[in-house]
Amino acid sequence: MNQREFAEAIYRPEPGPASSIDPRRLARAVHLDAERDGPAGWLVRGGAESHRVTFDGDRYDCGCRDRAIRGGGCKHILRVLLSEGHPVVVRVLRALVRLPNPRRGAV
Ligand SMILES: [Zn+2]
Repeated sequence: MNQREFAEAIYRPEPGPASSIDPRRLARAVHLDAERDGPAGWLVRGGAESHRVTFDGDRYDCGCRDRAIRGGGCKHILRVLLSEGHPVVVRVLRALVRLPNPRRGAV
């Protein structure tokens, strides 16, 4: 998926053949580890199986079953985009994580 598809995902939350950022998948992605293993590849560990995410200059891809069936942003791709600081992924994550209660002291 490319930058435009991710931007559209924010405004088209319903599932479809194109990608959408599923908040549940993004929450699971936070608990995975991504390690770059080449100029355009990452090894994502921490789930039931490790998967390799690649980037061809336009699209990210992953060999996992979820990606093959659904065609959207699987948790492995989302984990890589998170480590790359993708602004849309960060924006969705921000909506998921509440700010700490200011009465309990500043963090
Ligand atoms: Zn995947």
